[in-house]
Amino acid sequence: MSRRAKTLAVPPAAASAVFSMPPEQRSELLRAWYLALLERLGPSRWWPGESPFEVAVGAVLVQNTAWRNVEKALASLKAKKALDPASLLRMPEAELHEALRPSGYFRLKAGRLRNLLAYFAEHAGWDKAPGNLALSFLKRKSTERLRRELLAVKGIGAETADAVLLYALDRPSFVVDAYTRRIFSRHGLVPPDIAYEDLREFFMRALPEDRALYNEYHALIVRLGNAFCLKSRPRCAECPLGVFMDHAPL
Ligand code: SF4
Repeated sequence: MSRRAKTLAVPPAAASAVFSMPPEQRSELLRAWYLALLERLGPSRWWPGESPFEVAVGAVLVQNTAWRNVEKALASLKAKKALDPASLLRMPEAELHEALRPSGYFRLKAGRLRNLLAYFAEHAGWDKAPGNLALSFLKRKSTERLRRELLAVKGIGAETADAVLLYALDRPSFVVDAYTRRIFSRHGLVPPDIAYEDLREFFMRALPEDRALYNEYHALIVRLGNAFCLKSRPRCAECPLGVFMDHAPL
């Protein structure tokens, strides 16, 4: 962040004061932001993926990297006709590493992917079509239970678990990330070091439990963070949320 941006950032005391804003007021504000983003950026149609399984794989691979790198890894798996649970479980480790290499941290991600696959294989059940895991089998479980189970999978953190829940399993679980923290803290709505679960609660307590709304809201936040709310040079003057800055633009 630039020196000027640092100087103008809302101090933590002010941030926590706004965080205690009554839920109705917060709900109104979050809806106004959502509408402003949607109007300016248009619908996101997330998450890219030909199947819920592909979306779940993408959610693991996108950890600490840009989506374009994930696309290369997914394309490599598709070229090998291996983007299905049975093929991935069978694939020799070295070959899986090579396919995932473009997404970075490929050894770590291969292990995490296998852990998630093992969870699906145990809990989701196999479909009639060979190689297909029927993720719909997970429908019998409540969202809270699924989230607890996903969080218990080694290497699956809260952001990945929520992305799998929301985008692969169609569950209303709000996803927050570094962009969310940056944008909302720059506006003084949350402290800059707010914990993941608190930030998620910030949204889930103020918004209706609506899968489509959560899906689009997170997607818009990521697009905003990528195009306007840059880490070191936020483009407040052109930003769709510029009108909501109650102090000088950063
Ligand atoms: S106006 Fe936009 S760019 Fe500026 S801090 Fe807010 S979200 Fe970031």
